[in-house]
Amino acid sequence: MINKTPTYLTLPSRIKPPRKPKDCANKPAASVPPLPVQIEELRGMRLFDEDFYRDQYPDIAKLADPLTHYVQHGCRKQRMPNEWFDIKYIRNDHPELDRSGSNPLWYFGRFLRHEREVKTRSDMHRWGFCPVCGCRRLFIAHFDTNDSFNNLRCIGCNGAPRDRAVAMLLDRHVPGWRERAHVHESSPCTDCLKMTAGSYSSSQFYADEALGKVVNGFRNENLEAMTFKDGTFDVMAAIEVIEHVFHPDAMVREMVRCVKPGGWVVFTTIPGGLPVSRPRAMLDDASGEITHLHPPVYHGNPIGDGALLTWDFGQDFDDNIRIWAPDAELIHWSDADERLGIIPGGIPHIYLLHKRAA
Ligand SMILES: [Zn+2]
Repeated sequence: MINKTPTYLTLPSRIKPPRKPKDCANKPAASVPPLPVQIEELRGMRLFDEDFYRDQYPDIAKLADPLTHYVQHGCRKQRMPNEWFDIKYIRNDHPELDRSGSNPLWYFGRFLRHEREVKTRSDMHRWGFCPVCGCRRLFIAHFDTNDSFNNLRCIGCNGAPRDRAVAMLLDRHVPGWRERAHVHESSPCTDCLKMTAGSYSSSQFYADEALGKVVNGFRNENLEAMTFKDGTFDVMAAIEVIEHVFHPDAMVREMVRCVKPGGWVVFTTIPGGLPVSRPRAMLDDASGEITHLHPPVYHGNPIGDGALLTWDFGQDFDDNIRIWAPDAELIHWSDADERLGIIPGGIPHIYLLHKRAA
């Protein structure tokens, strides 16, 4: 049985990412029985999920014995024997596997399953539909980051749950955006919007360079005071950016200004439980000096050494956005969607602003 309960968010830290192969590189190949014996032993191990295999690979749906097909053909085509078995993980960690001439799943069941804690591994994987890739994909949790919000990244596009939610919501609200919309993204961390938008451009902020010019392939823009003309884009996006600017009100106003009438602004963040939002740090615009009101916290940043967390947004965040963007309608989406691999513990908050048509 595959355990469907998403318990992995509370896994202890002893679960480690794959080891480098050096520990086992010199291990002799284990003695391996012929394939028919491996097939019979695999039946007893109950690692092969026949229903899953038939469902995934319709070309073999009518075969009487999918397990035999998997051992003889499927594993060579990197087919999955169940929803969690990761052949790349096993190969990376056990280079002796390929020398041994054994089926990877049999080898796992015979020699590795107790080391690897099958049940725990199974909880790190989910199949679902990725709206960025546009197909069914495997989502894999990253434990080395210890960051539940970034869990369940798509193996196709590396998108996190928030990226899938953004693509899903744009599909829902902005018809034809994949063919026609010009999407401009500030500080992209993934290629998800680049992969999907009709046309795409992006910017980063380099404080020491001239605004509006291209630096390292990005347009240099300060989100709080952009150099674009009013109504330049169909969609403007900023994923996990707003909690790192000093003036989120200016950022929201600027993003709404830069989209066309009837256009869309989309951003994401994680509001906390505070009743009222509070700044964590303040910038003296004249001197450029930063005053920390709370101990500094840094998040990963696509450029530079880390982005300072400047705000803790609270329960008043939605009301504030409405005040900052009076000419736009706010849609705040935050929901579990098992189908998209968006599950409790990793649920993003997506804010869409629909600018009124002129
Ligand atoms: Zn994907």
